[in-house]
Amino acid sequence: MTDQYAVIGNPIAHSKSPLIHRMFAEQTGQDISYKAILAPLDGFAATIERLRAEGYKGCNVTVPFKFEALKLATRIDPHAEIAQAVNTLKFDNGEIMGYNTDGRGLVADIQFNLKIDLKNKNILLAGAGGAASGVIHSLATMGARVTIANRNVEKAQILVNRFSHLFAPNNNAEKKSPTRNNALSYADLAGQQFDIVINATSASLTDSTIPLPATIFAPGALAYDMMYGRDTPFMKFARTHGAAVVADGLGMLVEQAAEAFYLWRGVRPDTAAVLKKLRA
Ligand code: NDP
Repeated sequence: MTDQYAVIGNPIAHSKSPLIHRMFAEQTGQDISYKAILAPLDGFAATIERLRAEGYKGCNVTVPFKFEALKLATRIDPHAEIAQAVNTLKFDNGEIMGYNTDGRGLVADIQFNLKIDLKNKNILLAGAGGAASGVIHSLATMGARVTIANRNVEKAQILVNRFSHLFAPNNNAEKKSPTRNNALSYADLAGQQFDIVINATSASLTDSTIPLPATIFAPGALAYDMMYGRDTPFMKFARTHGAAVVADGLGMLVEQAAEAFYLWRGVRPDTAAVLKKLRA
């Protein structure tokens, strides 16, 4: 019997996950179906219950349900625990297993697809929502130095406090306290430069810009927008203000999906082939 999977979000119509998982299944000979399911904003738990009752084997979880998915999971892997967000659920013998594959997806895209080493890089992570929370641990454990900027600085500070054991001080900043140095407002960024600037805000969803200083990109810098599917204002800004490499989040999407596929099926798909087809 075909095993059923889905991605659940609100909105969800734009999702490329069904296409990606169908390509993985075809490539690896796995007999699965994968749908996009719109859950009502107040109906995530009920949707999961329905899927489990119908015999689904698991699902991906996207905006805005990653925190609710964490609460619903009966067992949580260390990546989800540290991110306090779940993007992959596996239904297994009455358990709801919760995982977070976003961080591994981003690292794989930067290191393997873009071929940029993260070790000792100064990274600016713009945004302090679910996506930012999901990637900090993976970036920091690759030896990168992470600074978070957010409109609401308190939210950035909460993340820095949660991950304080991982933060090396922002060596751009004059202030001495590691926690204070690593949680900044956009205005605090004046005069600072970063090797990698990651847009983990949802500003690109509404074609909005984030207020970065024009001199934010260090020589050779990578500008990475987690948004995919269009050329965003952040990507245009990066191209005209000195970023050497500009990337969207399609590679991260494919890589985090591959991690989820592996957790469900125990088989690793060839992500490079899928990414090439999607870009074409
Ligand atoms: P959340 O809603 O959890 O967080 C949104 C963040 O964006 C907050 O930090 C918020 O700041 C900030 N923000 C929103 N609008 C603006 C704006 N106009 N200017 C500055 N900051 C703004 O969303 P997620 O973290 O879950 O998702 C963020 C993005 O990452 C989305 O575009 C999503 O599609 C993408 N994503 C991509 C993935 C991929 O595989 N490529 C995986 C996961 C996410 P504040 O706190 O001040 O309100």
